[in-house]
Amino acid sequence: MEQHSQQIELSVVIPTCNEEGNIFAMYERLVAVMAQCSCSKFEFIFVDDGSSDASLSRIQELRAKDSRVKFIQLSRNFGHQNALKAGLDHAQGAGVISMDADLQHPPELIPTLVEKWKAGFEVVYTIRKDDQKVPLLKKWTSKGFYKITNKLAEIPMEEGTADFRLLDRKVVEALKKFTESHLFLRGIIPSLGFKQIGIPYVPHARVSGTTKYSFSKMLRFALNGITSSSAKPLYFSIYVGLFFAALAFLYGIYAIYIAAFTHEAITGWTSIIASILFIGGIQLIMIGIVGIYLGKLFIQSKNRPLYLITEKELDE
Ligand code: UDP
Ligand code: MG
Repeated sequence: MEQHSQQIELSVVIPTCNEEGNIFAMYERLVAVMAQCSCSKFEFIFVDDGSSDASLSRIQELRAKDSRVKFIQLSRNFGHQNALKAGLDHAQGAGVISMDADLQHPPELIPTLVEKWKAGFEVVYTIRKDDQKVPLLKKWTSKGFYKITNKLAEIPMEEGTADFRLLDRKVVEALKKFTESHLFLRGIIPSLGFKQIGIPYVPHARVSGTTKYSFSKMLRFALNGITSSSAKPLYFSIYVGLFFAALAFLYGIYAIYIAAFTHEAITGWTSIIASILFIGGIQLIMIGIVGIYLGKLFIQSKNRPLYLITEKELDE
């Protein structure tokens, strides 16, 4: 391991799931940009996360021409975060950059990341500054996600940080100790410490293909993010429960007063139905919160590997 890390200066890890239309363009822009970096030796590691299109054969085609292109083929789709982890676990560089395969993370930012790294920063992360090209829904959901997560998580995350960053070898080694299921790297990395710096950038539009994050996947990702770095939502359910219990108590006193001192009893069918439905709904949400944590414990207790590899070619 040690001797490798001296040989390769920079690794670029690229989780790839059905990106056949982006791989050649990605490679070309990466090579062009690497020429501007003062990096002696680099490698590009594509992690094929169970693609069903020609992604892998495109990667192999590149590898046949350029042995600095390497790949890990996962045995099926394990999800972006696990694919990323597989790449980080196998990268050999003294510095490791992670970025998406769809060119939304502009490779042209790499020289700036490297510059900051060489200036002594151990985590150089990027902060997305949205422009008009990002769909309004994505912008809002992303904003809401960071707002809620920061309120609930113990470690605040900066808004707009994604998995486009450079990590020093020390940080990559630290990350290898995190074998938790439901990995949520952008919540873990700020909590690691080390010397960190953020760099703003404007994301580009996807070059080819479509996003792999549907709305329901995004919602799951957000809930996972919130519950993976904080247990506060569990307390939150108690607070909400107490609040509504207090409300119900007051309403009970009011109901007794009405029954005892007035002749207006037996109206109020609507309010009873409404409050039953409302409190029932709140209870379901609260049980759901507990359920998410329980589910995570269940999965974690099995201690299964985060990813399985069919084939890997990581040599020069
Ligand atoms: N990706 C992956 N596995 C998945 C989903 C996505 O490796 O199950 C990769 C994908 O190929 C891309 C990156 O993760 O390189 C980000 O995915 P995407 O562009 O679909 O997400 P978005 O940018 O829309 O948030
Ligand atoms: Mg994308």
